[in-house]
Amino acid sequence: MEQITVKASQSSYKVSVGAGIRHKLSELLPKSYQNVFVISDTSIAPHYLDDYVSSLLPDAKITKKIIEPGEAAKSKDMYFDILDSMFEAELDRKALVLALGGGVIGDLAGFVASTYMRGIDFVQLPTTILAHDSSVGGKVAINHETGKNLIGSFYPPVAVVYDVDTITTLPEKEVRSGYAELIKEAYIGNADFLSQLLERKKLDKENEEQLIEDLSLGIRVKTKIVEADEKENDLRKFLNLGHTLGHAIEAEAGYGTFTHGEAVAIGMLFALELSERRFGADLRLGEFRSWMERNDYPMHLPDLSAERLVIRMQMDKKSENKEVHMVLLREIGDPVTEKVDHDTLHNAVTSFLE
Ligand code: ADP
Ligand code: ZN
Repeated sequence: MEQITVKASQSSYKVSVGAGIRHKLSELLPKSYQNVFVISDTSIAPHYLDDYVSSLLPDAKITKKIIEPGEAAKSKDMYFDILDSMFEAELDRKALVLALGGGVIGDLAGFVASTYMRGIDFVQLPTTILAHDSSVGGKVAINHETGKNLIGSFYPPVAVVYDVDTITTLPEKEVRSGYAELIKEAYIGNADFLSQLLERKKLDKENEEQLIEDLSLGIRVKTKIVEADEKENDLRKFLNLGHTLGHAIEAEAGYGTFTHGEAVAIGMLFALELSERRFGADLRLGEFRSWMERNDYPMHLPDLSAERLVIRMQMDKKSENKEVHMVLLREIGDPVTEKVDHDTLHNAVTSFLE
């Protein structure tokens, strides 16, 4: 088992990553709880929920809220529905919320916990590879009709307990999604980790030791950045490598066409190409492309319009006066934020789509 301590301004918490650790959850919590409210979804709960709660106090009161999977759950309606269930279960300020699932469950449960009676403890139990990213850094949110994650706060969990056994049931598309974010972290902050990933034949969700190591290395890169920059100023922006075009692709192709990570991987390919051109660095682009190919990442975007993607990129909250601020790499491990003007971007996206 690997343990990483994340220091937040008011508190710090441990991220435990291991195989089978769902059976000893209580040992990995900072204290014991009498009243526990578990939020999960129907793809996950039947496999893992009982294991996770089995080590809690024998007389603890456990209430389960199992919802339908999917991003639609991060809605205002669901938010109030869950609060209603929490009042019904008579949770007091000393109760605990357990978020068992991927990023959707983590974001939703975390936001609920952050506002129920002005905030009660919550613990993330991630079941996706991508959730290594959302479970560290303290961002929790639900969606508004205007856009994703627009109603939210910074609210760190009191612990993260990550059992890699749960990854065995994760669909391949979601495995790709998570590894895109891991290779992003490697590019931003760990050249050795990048070599390991690029030199490996195929993604393998069955290899537990490897998963523990990969997730821990990714979490360490992210932790270093969020500790230095808890509230989204300069450093944290670097985590957006690949996300400017990635977000545009997700929105333009229609959410759900690609997973978040698949879109980010394409966005990274674009950002790395632009970086090589701008800085003349060797970013192992050929190897990255072949890594994407052999792991069945989508590589072509035949139906998307370059100009519409550029307009989306300009709408990104990180862009100012039509110039787009993109994260590029001067070298592996050396990210920078660069302004890219409309024409340069339009030409680059056009040739990228060809
Ligand atoms: P993330 O944002 O971390 O990628 P999501 O919450 O969007 O995760 O989950 C992606 C999908 O995978 C959802 O449909 C969810 O129900 C499903 N899922 C998550 N974890 C598992 C798992 N361990 N086994 C099977 N399905 C899972
Ligand atoms: Zn992301």
